[in-house]
Amino acid sequence: MTSIETVSSEDIPSIDNYTEELIAELQLPVAKVSGAVNDEKGEVRALYERANNQNLTSPIIDLFARLLDLRRQDKGCSDDFDISGDELHRLAIKHQQIDEHMVSVGGRLARALPIAGEANSRVEEYLAQKDQVAPSGIEKWEQIQENIGRIKAELKMSDEDWNSFQGQIRNAIDSVATLSKLIDLPEDVLESIARVTKSYRMRLTPYYTSLIMPGVINDPIMLQSVPTGEMIENAGIEIPPVAADHSPARLIDQFYPRVLTIKATNMCAMYCTHCLRLAHIGRRDHMYSKEAYNEALDYIRKNEQVRDVLVTGGDAFVLPNSILRWLLEELDAIEHIKVKRLGTRIPVTAPMRVDAELLDILEESSDKKPIRVVTQINTAQEVTPVSRDAFREISKRTFTVLNQAVLLKGINDSRVKMWKLCETIQEAYVRPYYIFNCSYRNPQFSHFRVPLAVGRDIVESMYGNISGDAIPRYIATAGGKIPLHRSNVVRREGDDYVLRKPWNDEEAEYPDADPEVYAEDLFAFNK
Ligand SMILES: *Cc1c(COP(=O)(O)O)cnc(C)c1O
Ligand code: SF4
Repeated sequence: MTSIETVSSEDIPSIDNYTEELIAELQLPVAKVSGAVNDEKGEVRALYERANNQNLTSPIIDLFARLLDLRRQDKGCSDDFDISGDELHRLAIKHQQIDEHMVSVGGRLARALPIAGEANSRVEEYLAQKDQVAPSGIEKWEQIQENIGRIKAELKMSDEDWNSFQGQIRNAIDSVATLSKLIDLPEDVLESIARVTKSYRMRLTPYYTSLIMPGVINDPIMLQSVPTGEMIENAGIEIPPVAADHSPARLIDQFYPRVLTIKATNMCAMYCTHCLRLAHIGRRDHMYSKEAYNEALDYIRKNEQVRDVLVTGGDAFVLPNSILRWLLEELDAIEHIKVKRLGTRIPVTAPMRVDAELLDILEESSDKKPIRVVTQINTAQEVTPVSRDAFREISKRTFTVLNQAVLLKGINDSRVKMWKLCETIQEAYVRPYYIFNCSYRNPQFSHFRVPLAVGRDIVESMYGNISGDAIPRYIATAGGKIPLHRSNVVRREGDDYVLRKPWNDEEAEYPDADPEVYAEDLFAFNK
């Protein structure tokens, strides 16, 4: 083929192989033209007119798609609908000229659309199930409001009580007697709770209690807040808490050279049934002295390699605003501290705590050095319009809000439940950060543990199917945080690698960087 010198190749777009093949297939005569062709002729001609008259890509795709469909059903080829090969060529070129990225009809129809279709099929099951299997507190809001009305009346709480943190704590549910008035539970279950709460502390805020769905056995909110008999039955040999090995100074835990935690309180608004700090949470709430905080701060001041301080507990938002403000100011004043974190589950268990004063404190400190608020949301049901508002306000005033979920049997141990959790929290201004495997250290909650293979499948299945920044890292805590992701590097082939696509197990060849080029000392501006 010779080209005409005066015409640039841009003026005569070439037809790619996908389109050549497509046009050839459309023109292939059928053995016997079906009588039905007459029925479809009008429809095809109308599609043809639209493809011709409109300066859009989709009418051209629609025409080619319909012709392909008819050809594959052996009803007729393009000529049977009075569309010649030249016409098809002309329309194919028109499509390429309209499309900003010069995508061909063949590429779009034969490649891109089937690939997108295959991708859609990977999320079909999730989309069909997510709102039934894992409803969010936003979707359940009507029922929750009904629960709130009932609980408020039963506990004789005023609106003012309900909407204040102090009111929530004052009216917290810590006895089986009160619980049984708010939730319908069978006698034997109540007995078992009575037995277990002699050894393990129970406390639910009225707000968190309102998230429990009536009549649901093993409701994910109840599982996280009401201790069950298994905690006693499982109580075997407890592996000592890590604190002894990792607490170099008063209130401090340190696993890493540059990040450490201050356990600033032993209190939480609610006590979780899967809490790692089981041993640390006292039978009674008490405040720590400034003296204790100062010893912790002194350790941080003296250790200049530390740059990131995580204020946790218990729950950092249990601290009164005045203490929180003071602690943050002290940290901001330490030159080598560059970033801070606050660990809190209170926006989930008692979102009323997130008041204007607290938000001002957060903003003021975050303006100096970034604050990340690290929370724990384990099920979409914990995200309500109220907690979502709290997270939105926090995210406006700080660097970001991160979520550390715990992988828990019956609560979030399926693809549908975990994908829904990750998407729901992202829609509530929270970024999925970690999924922790439930600890092996405390036999009291071994009934909540989920096998590693299940956890891996859940996390790996997110790649390619939900937004990348909604995918958390899967972590085991064993003297520090150890990632549990399966490697996607399948093997080495010569200088190259073969990688695995997590979403369909397809392999992809991946040429590595040339080691000789990489080893060159002189490059870029010093070459
Ligand atoms: C989780 C944790 C950290 C923070 O770890 P990152 O991986 O930076 O989130 C730091 N210190 C202790 C003791 C921890 O438990
Ligand atoms: S909020 Fe955290 S520290 Fe408090 S009880 Fe729950 S898991 Fe434990």
